[in-house]
This record gives sequence, structure tokens and C-alpha cells, in this order.
Amino acid sequence: MSNCIFCEIIEGSIPSEIVYEDEAVFAFRDINGQAPLHVLIIPKQHIASINDLETNNAHLIGQLYLAAKEIAQTEGYTDQGYRVVMNCGEAAGQTVFHLHLHLLAGRPLTWPPG
Ligand code: 5GP
Ligand code: ZN
Repeated sequence: MSNCIFCEIIEGSIPSEIVYEDEAVFAFRDINGQAPLHVLIIPKQHIASINDLETNNAHLIGQLYLAAKEIAQTEGYTDQGYRVVMNCGEAAGQTVFHLHLHLLAGRPLTWPPG
């Protein structure tokens, strides 16, 4: 999709530090990391937010979580623990409207989040 920063990252026209890629999923380090590990895991298909999900996207959402598990393992955070979170809409802090999971690890993560 044009004018989508994450679609441009998938295409490579905006550089990123890629940590994972398969046929449906792309993951790269957040440019403004909030923890020692902060990776964004996104579908290659442009979907703006959770509000735009459809029934046939259910498998894709599972693929995002499986990628999170694999990246956490590769980066060495399986036992220590990590957080996987998806913001939906402006009040939740979503600033980029291309669906993305945040994978955070490497420091104590408080709950509830701010
Ligand atoms: P949101 O606030 O929408 O949940 O998360 C968007 C995230 O994308 C933010 O954590 C922000 O730092 C990250 N981000 C925005 N633009 C870029 C970029 O050009 N490159 C990378 N790697 N991350 C970005
Ligand atoms: Zn996009």
C-alpha cells in the first residue's frame, strides 16, 4: 500500500534491521526501542489495525505469534520472559496503521502498562 511506512520497510525502500522473515510475516527492530529487545512483527499483507481483521486473517494472526515465539527464542528470552502487545487505535497508542505486534524483552516490564 502506498503511503504506508511499514509496507515500504517490507519492500526495502526504507531500510530496517530485519530479524525474521517468511512468506507471510516480516519482523524488524523498532527504531525507537523501549527495551533491550524491541521487535515489530508485521504481516506482509497491509491490514491497518485489529479493527480491520476478517475471519480469514485468523491463521495470519497465529503466524505473527509463532514468529514472536521464534524470535524470542533466537534472541535468548524464552526462559526470562517477554511481552507481546498490539495497540489498536489512537487511544491505545497506535501510531502506524499497519498491523504490528511489539515484542519486548530484556528489562522488567511493569503491569498494568501506562
Ligand atoms: P505503535 O505506536 O503504532 O504501536 O508502534 C509503532 C512503532 O513503530 C513505534 O514503536 C515506532 O518507534 C516504530 N517505528 C515508526 N517508524 C519506524 C521506522 O521507520 N522504522 C522502524 N524500525 N520503526 C519505526
Ligand atoms: Zn502497510
